Amino acid sequence: MTTFSGVDGPVRYNPYDLYDVAVSHSFVAAVSWSLAAAGAWFAVTRSRLGAVVVGGAVFSHFLLDLPMHTPDLPLAYSDGPKLGFGLWNHPALALAAELLLVGAGAFFYARNTPRVTRRTRWFFIVLLALTVATPVLPAPPGPMSFAAQALAAYVALALYAHWVERGDSPPSTPASTPESRRTA
Ligand SMILES: [Zn+2]
Repeated sequence: MTTFSGVDGPVRYNPYDLYDVAVSHSFVAAVSWSLAAAGAWFAVTRSRLGAVVVGGAVFSHFLLDLPMHTPDLPLAYSDGPKLGFGLWNHPALALAAELLLVGAGAFFYARNTPRVTRRTRWFFIVLLALTVATPVLPAPPGPMSFAAQALAAYVALALYAHWVERGDSPPSTPASTPESRRTA
């Protein structure tokens, strides 16, 4: 559950009081979600490497939240010790860490994609702008609007990333590329 405590909230970086996040943020849940995602990916694609990458990407949520959160990430499902190194109490450091991560992601993506298009560049500019804007945007009025806003943002970003990725892929009909016409 998330409550909103305004500008004097438990952390300085955002107004959220994350007092019960077992389903989304506990270590046990993170492992479970990662295994479920890896299993689903393998069931659909039969790719072991793909499953490991997808599972690792899902689990990275826990690892990347660890330095940011104040101690509210449960190790077990909801009871027991809670983890979090509290970078959210140092807004400048928190923002620097987030920008560094987006920058590193952009660099890694650019190094490993066949070609970087205008769509790709704009996608990372939008991500960087969102990273800078998020801590200063006004908080949603309550938990339900926060949930709706977050879910809508995640779906929109995933669809945007899919559109960018499609633009970067080579044409799916090789017969129509100049290279294949030349060699035909
Ligand atoms: Zn999180």
